[in-house]
Amino acid sequence: MMSGARGNSARVLSRSFSSHRLVAKYVALDASRILVPGLIEWDANGRIVALRRARSAQAREALDVAVLPGLVNAHAHLQIDALPAAERRFLPWVGAVMKAREGVTTAAHRRQAKQSMRELLQSGTTAIGEIDSTGNTTAALRTLPMAGRCYREVTGFHLMQREARHLVRERMPDATTSMLPGLSPHAPYSVSPDLMRAAAAATRNLAIHCAEVPEEQQFLRQGTGAFANLLHRLGRMPKDFVAPGCGAVRWLERLGVLRVGTQLVHCQELERGDAGRIAAAGATIAVCPGTIDYFGRTPPPVAQWLRRGIPVALGTDSRASNRGLSMRQELARAAELWPELRLEELFAMATVCGGKALNGPFGSLRRGRRADFVVVPASGSWSETLAGFVRDETPLMAVVLAGVAHRQAARR
Ligand SMILES: [Zn+2]
Repeated sequence: MMSGARGNSARVLSRSFSSHRLVAKYVALDASRILVPGLIEWDANGRIVALRRARSAQAREALDVAVLPGLVNAHAHLQIDALPAAERRFLPWVGAVMKAREGVTTAAHRRQAKQSMRELLQSGTTAIGEIDSTGNTTAALRTLPMAGRCYREVTGFHLMQREARHLVRERMPDATTSMLPGLSPHAPYSVSPDLMRAAAAATRNLAIHCAEVPEEQQFLRQGTGAFANLLHRLGRMPKDFVAPGCGAVRWLERLGVLRVGTQLVHCQELERGDAGRIAAAGATIAVCPGTIDYFGRTPPPVAQWLRRGIPVALGTDSRASNRGLSMRQELARAAELWPELRLEELFAMATVCGGKALNGPFGSLRRGRRADFVVVPASGSWSETLAGFVRDETPLMAVVLAGVAHRQAARR
């Protein structure tokens, strides 16, 4: 049952949405700068035109709510559905995902992408780092203008020179959607050096699965093990293949792709010196708590990485290694996996760090940016409000995407 006060504030809230102006007890520009009370105003195009502390006359109309930047899901595969049967070992899991995707129609990919976006929006996500392996995400964006970056996936351990450049030219995404364009050379074990270099030459914005499992490091160091077997089976192992003889991060550094704009996903198996290399290069890391849980992995040392100045973002990954797609659930899981992190750090992972990982204007509220934000009840002090949000204890009253409110308490 909705309380009378809550119902009343929902009505006032919808009036605020129609007038494109909200005065709130708290308006968080990002994890550390809070306007108390704050005012946010946006135009008909969904751009923020005013963002400041409310003056005393306005302060009297402040609603008992908090306005926070929309969440950034830095790593997702929107088109991938849950597996028919859970598989917790990584290599068989890769095979199961490949098998499940055989014969999926274009229409089904689009439907799944749209459904995933809706689900993410419901959980307060307004920007996504999408790994699009079929080119079908763009169509889904026409109905829901999510922000973020759409990384078109490229794979091919067998592709050399011209073939590699050709694939990259063919896959470079359209720059005219609500998402910014990028490329995702899948992983060091599935992408040839030529393909990695061709992708890096085509765009600054790369997302790469990196150092996810010990078998990946073994393959790169010695050229043996499960990934070597898999590549042989798929007929993708070049005859003249010589293992790089180093781990994934050093290999990416040698290929020239460890740099600003590159997002490394997972980083479960970093070696000594890797975190320093990533920090010095200005690259970012995305971790996926749901995937860590699913495979029963040890949580990586996120606090150490943050201390080194590496932006560490959060992602849901796909339904194939997660229960549902909810960034609030991801945030609550992160709080459990890394209890040493402060609330502000956790919130930054789901917002500002996500913006850095996507190399775009996401994860904080600024004048001139898109009005992408969430509204939650203000429960006591700012710290209490933030704690309730991070631990997924307070409800979302609204998610505002490009100035349009998508979910309001009055309709629940
Ligand atoms: Zn992934």
